[in-house]
Amino acid sequence: MDKEIVDVLVIGAGPSGCVSSAYLKKNNINVKVVEKTKFPRLVVGESLIPRVMDHFDEAGLFPALDKMGFEKKMGARFMRGNEVCIFDFSNKFGDGWDWTWQVPRADFDNTLAQEVINKGIDLEFETEVIGIEFNGTDSITTVKDKNGNTKEIHAKFVIDSSGYGRVLPRLLDLEKPSKLSPHSAMFAHVEDINREEGEEGTLISFDIIETEVWLWVIPFSNGNTSIGIVGPTDYIEKLSENGDPTEALRKAISLSDYYVKRFGDVEFLFEPRHLKDYSCSVKSLYGDGFALTGNASEFLDPVFSSGMAFATESGMLAAKLAIRQLNGEKIDWQKEYSDYILYGVNVFTTYVKEWYTGNLQELFFHQPENPDVKRKICAVLAGYVWDKKNTFVRIHDTAVVNLANFIKAEKQQA
Ligand code: FAD
Repeated sequence: MDKEIVDVLVIGAGPSGCVSSAYLKKNNINVKVVEKTKFPRLVVGESLIPRVMDHFDEAGLFPALDKMGFEKKMGARFMRGNEVCIFDFSNKFGDGWDWTWQVPRADFDNTLAQEVINKGIDLEFETEVIGIEFNGTDSITTVKDKNGNTKEIHAKFVIDSSGYGRVLPRLLDLEKPSKLSPHSAMFAHVEDINREEGEEGTLISFDIIETEVWLWVIPFSNGNTSIGIVGPTDYIEKLSENGDPTEALRKAISLSDYYVKRFGDVEFLFEPRHLKDYSCSVKSLYGDGFALTGNASEFLDPVFSSGMAFATESGMLAAKLAIRQLNGEKIDWQKEYSDYILYGVNVFTTYVKEWYTGNLQELFFHQPENPDVKRKICAVLAGYVWDKKNTFVRIHDTAVVNLANFIKAEKQQA
């Protein structure tokens, strides 16, 4: 069998794999990326949050993305009937980027991958990992190309960024069920022919249909818009019980009084995709000679668009630690990788859980707004979930619930 030798093998050329490989190359590490599909490929995850910009910038990927003219996302709008709550990232607590993009991922990921190739990284498309063996931290990965040819890649470190391919969790028995209750989604893109002029047309919005059911509307700069519905798995199953995904998503759109006029009769650009029980977790984020990043590790929920931010955060951190390890340093992966990443995951887990209990919705729609609370929650929604100066990060598990209970008690008294 053919054999290649590299320092680091990255599995998957999604945003996580592109950030880690670009950063490794920038630091003169011999890195190779293998990607199962041919790009551009369709993938969900179109609403970014500002924290990702730090990583694209640090990895040297920002200029190529910026040239593409993706729609700028300055904040997000949440709606519940006539109630509206708009977060503006420029009003967030603390430092950090105050804008990002909302993107068709096929184009976005293709730009990232091409830029990775432009940087001289060996990225092999249509090449799938089918097996791996570890000997201490060294590994031999078997890959298969589209013609069925196999070869071995010897690496000193492997970064698994295979998203829902979940290569190492499957091969090494690291899968663990998510602690979140099962939710599912359906989505498609439309040519947004009824789009209004100005901000209304381009504003990213989340329209609450019921406490646990919401619609996303993500307009792109190419004139298309992504529409999706999210809810408990049995709710989404019921919606699509006659087996026709187009009819199911149409039914979902008709539930939004606000958006039915704009999207009620427009054609879907592809048959709506059904993503069932999307939350996932792992027993460990690392092992001898490997780290799991992005969706190959933990995915929570789309409601606060945290997926891409964790994908790039973990991709960048795994790359940095791998470099130090290759330079002979002993790395405490539990403390420096797992504990760090899981701190942010835990913060977002609270927000996701409290969204679905309705507590967070109490805070979002409470009037009059409390500007201090809003600024701090806005920083969380921007992805700055490691900033312990922010009370809504530091005591996330009690801050949201306590405030929601206070608001509910006040309402009862009024
Ligand atoms: P991916 O982008 O999935 O890339 C992984 C790559 O690995 C793929 O290209 C795949 O082909 C490749 N691969 C798989 N198996 C193999 C193999 N065996 N060998 C080689 N390569 C392989 N996140 C957001 O930030 N914002 C959102 O609005 C958002 N909405 C979402 C809505 C839903 C319904 C869901 C389920 C998720 C959403 N997400 C969102 C999450 C987002 O999709 C992911 O967090 C993000 O794509 C993760 O990036 P990644 O690089 O880890 O994985």
